[in-house]
Amino acid sequence: MDIAQPESPVVSPQQVTDTNLESTEQRLRLRRLGMSFASYLATFSLVIFCWYQGMVPGEVVAQFAVFALVLNGAFFALIRSGINLRFADPSMTSAQMVLSLLPALWVMFFLEAGQARAAFLMIAMVPPLYGILGLCRRQFLVVSLWFFTLYGLLYLSLLVYKPQVLTGALDLIQTAAFTLVMAQIAIIGGFISSLRQKLRERNQDLKEAMARIQELVDVDALTGVYNRRRLFEVISEESNRYSRSPGSFSLCLLDVDYFKDVNDTYGHQAGDAILRGIAQCVSKGLREIDCFGRYGGEEFLIVLPQTPISGAGIKAERVRRCIESLRFDDIRKDLKITVSIGVAEFQPGEDTEATLARADQALYEAKHLGRNQVVLSEQPPVAVNASS
Ligand code: GH3
Ligand code: MG
Ligand code: MG
Repeated sequence: MDIAQPESPVVSPQQVTDTNLESTEQRLRLRRLGMSFASYLATFSLVIFCWYQGMVPGEVVAQFAVFALVLNGAFFALIRSGINLRFADPSMTSAQMVLSLLPALWVMFFLEAGQARAAFLMIAMVPPLYGILGLCRRQFLVVSLWFFTLYGLLYLSLLVYKPQVLTGALDLIQTAAFTLVMAQIAIIGGFISSLRQKLRERNQDLKEAMARIQELVDVDALTGVYNRRRLFEVISEESNRYSRSPGSFSLCLLDVDYFKDVNDTYGHQAGDAILRGIAQCVSKGLREIDCFGRYGGEEFLIVLPQTPISGAGIKAERVRRCIESLRFDDIRKDLKITVSIGVAEFQPGEDTEATLARADQALYEAKHLGRNQVVLSEQPPVAVNASS
């Protein structure tokens, strides 16, 4: 069943949340890039030390610096311009991990002391550790494969161009250790990414449960329309809104006529079905901004924002006729259910309790005048319809 909702703002809260979330994530990506740049700087100091020790030529130091600057600058530009948001993975984790290996490999190729390659291999392990938090198991395996391929290419190049720097068994041990550590990082990465997936699923369940709880808090279990608590909330919102912008709101209080007799004659369950039928009938004819709910027992309340009493009277009369024309053939053919309605418009400076009391007084008048009619709360109360 449709439940009439209070007026929705032009920019939905969902849109606002999405934009906030996006900018928070972009900031996080820039921070991660900053950490990656810091890690390049640490490696750079090691490259300088190698040059100082005469292990690499001076131009390789400069090449490393340019490489690192160009790579990080490119990622920075992609994030700042928002182009990264068009990618399947806006964090570009895999690309950052694989590319970060290239400057280190470049230096390793020019290293004259073969054993110093172990130090750069150790440094090459750092990007995969960052990637653990961002990649799923499959992506992680692909990145690891790239690592081995690139390192294999380096090894082949050394074998072809500089076999003198290779140290035989020692290189074999280093490569085996690199493989083992990478494989273990991949296993741990897979484990962490499955934990993160579970956490995401739990969060989704929690969000759905919260939405369900909110629904239970606002909705009447029998009829599916708003409950008394929500009605009072909306009335209070409307009276606050009135103080900010002109345009009064009206209340229509409905009470089913001779409902006790209906219960006594056809049973409580039939009575419940009738209440549900009435709730559906009224809900169908309301605007988006109207709010309709069960006030208690066999009484319902309609809150009509931006509606003076004349308009509310017309609306109430339409509702009265709709309910009068309802058929409950399952209970008894020709069973006719009617309601009496009291209508009051909120007055400036009035307490909402007082508006409700006037609607109740008008309802009492409607009952007194013979039921199945609408009475507006004016001085004196005026009957709009006198059919019965
Ligand atoms: P009136 O025309 O003066 O309103 O007469 P009435 O019989 O409707 O008024 P009264 O207040 O005496 O009776 C209301 C009845 O509504 C009494 C109660 O049994 C019934 N009622 C209240 N809540 C429910 C409910 O949730 N389900 C059902 N089936 N009946 C309910
Ligand atoms: Mg009653
Ligand atoms: Mg009644």
